[in-house]
Amino acid sequence: MKQITARRAYTCDSCKTQIDKGQKYVRTSVGVKATSWTVDDRPKHEIPAWAWETVRLPVINCVTCSEVS
Ligand SMILES: [Zn+2]
Repeated sequence: MKQITARRAYTCDSCKTQIDKGQKYVRTSVGVKATSWTVDDRPKHEIPAWAWETVRLPVINCVTCSEVS
């Protein structure tokens, strides 16, 4: 995976380690459902259309975590 040099400090989304400015990190994204409601659990009133779409969430990982996964 492509490593990016941090232009500011980040926090690794996996291990919560601080990634200092100038260190390498890896940016990926995960697709998650905008809602995690179950059928029985969901609100009975209006459900916005976006609630059923898959959204891409940006994920910042330190180099160590990016090599594990
Ligand atoms: Zn990490």
